[in-house]
Amino acid sequence: MERDIEAEAQERAARRDEAVRAAVEQGLLGPDAAVLGLLDMTGIQQSAAALRAAFDAVVPSGTPVLHAFAVKATPLVPVLRLLHEEGLGAEVASPGELALARAAGVPAERTVLDAPAKTPAELREALTLGIAVNADNPQELDRLDALVLPRGPEGVGGAPMTSLRSPLGIRINPQIGGGSIGATSTATATSKFGVGLRDEGAREWVVRAFLERPWLTRLHAHTGSQGIPMPLLARGVAETYALAEEINARAGRRQVDTLDIGGGLSVDFASEVAAPTYAQYARVLAEEVPGLFDGRYGLVTEFGRSLMARHGTVVARVEYTKSSGGRRIAVTHAGVQVATRTVYAPEAWPLRIAAYDAKGRPRTGPEVVQDVAGPACFSGDLLAEGRALPPLEQGDYAAALDTGAYYFAHHYAYNSLARPGIYGFAPDGAGGVTFAVVREPQTVAEVVAESGGAHADALTTLRASGSR
Ligand SMILES: *Cc1c(COP(=O)(O)O)cnc(C)c1O
Repeated sequence: MERDIEAEAQERAARRDEAVRAAVEQGLLGPDAAVLGLLDMTGIQQSAAALRAAFDAVVPSGTPVLHAFAVKATPLVPVLRLLHEEGLGAEVASPGELALARAAGVPAERTVLDAPAKTPAELREALTLGIAVNADNPQELDRLDALVLPRGPEGVGGAPMTSLRSPLGIRINPQIGGGSIGATSTATATSKFGVGLRDEGAREWVVRAFLERPWLTRLHAHTGSQGIPMPLLARGVAETYALAEEINARAGRRQVDTLDIGGGLSVDFASEVAAPTYAQYARVLAEEVPGLFDGRYGLVTEFGRSLMARHGTVVARVEYTKSSGGRRIAVTHAGVQVATRTVYAPEAWPLRIAAYDAKGRPRTGPEVVQDVAGPACFSGDLLAEGRALPPLEQGDYAAALDTGAYYFAHHYAYNSLARPGIYGFAPDGAGGVTFAVVREPQTVAEVVAESGGAHADALTTLRASGSR
């Protein structure tokens, strides 16, 4: 059943090479458009289908399953719309992400709100819309009480909920430890997320919270993102499942009816091959937590990176090449503004780089150790340091691979560098490639407007008024 992942990787690389060449041919890339992001529509569809198939294969038919794409991974409305049409929902963590999901047409019943700092207004909006909410902590649960119950403990204003449509749950932290990257490990003892289950009295507090609130029906855990080994992810799910069983036994009914197992499957940024796969993860879960898939629990997943990373590519023109201290350097237009994590934490977030010539054809030939630098004004602005690649020449293109999640969609405005355009690509049906604008490139006028351009006199006027 499972597609051969090596063949899939080769096809994906071939599609990418075709797209880079077509982008140069069609003028999307060139002297006046020196950096862009590309999204492989075919690959996105394949990943969405693989995710659905992986879990369909392990749950009894009829089990409610919602794959809520973690919007923070690729916060782009056209992507969310495509994923929605491919049968996925949305996991949102801010008013902005919720607005994106709604703009994409993702219905409330396919949306999950998980932020750690939700305001009363955000909670009220979510409940009014019927969006699922996972409370992060006891204070947030107090706020939910006030919204759900006619006379909440806080007695806050606003209309009480007459009909509660939102499935509500509590986020727990199984405190089973971190992975290889501290910043994306969420199940450490002192993580800021969820209720730390191993803290003194915490487990009993969670059980009581459920027993006292018949409207709590979900448990949520997201054990971490990139760098969490699959067995650790599975343990986080197992702990969540065990707690649900305990709550339901104490309640004497199936109060917890849905487990939200989060996302977090890692991407191997050193290789084109997409392992581990969703099918492997689903099988591991079925072995380690068989009760999860026996039909008693609905399932929510929240994958982000593993769904989208492979399908995005940053392509940047090589403006200059030079040599310094014996090191060959290609100065490109992609750096910290599009690959922030890689530039600031290169050990944790290495990216593969592909070299293309001025016509967008893959460069071949003997490799040379070189730096691939970005355009920003600090010396650490390197996409890759001391990397062996075919020698990049002036006018060539350097591509940062696997950047479809948490990269070019997460612009960082250092040096007032403009947000690049993002283009989706697909076969044109005649052996070529066709593109669609996913996000317009930001103009310099927009950079000025977003940098207080309309308030140019604000401080000088203030100074004048103060000295009067
Ligand atoms: C970031 C996040 C995800 C997605 O994580 P990935 O590693 O991109 O799969 C899912 N759920 C929550 C709560 C998150 O914070």
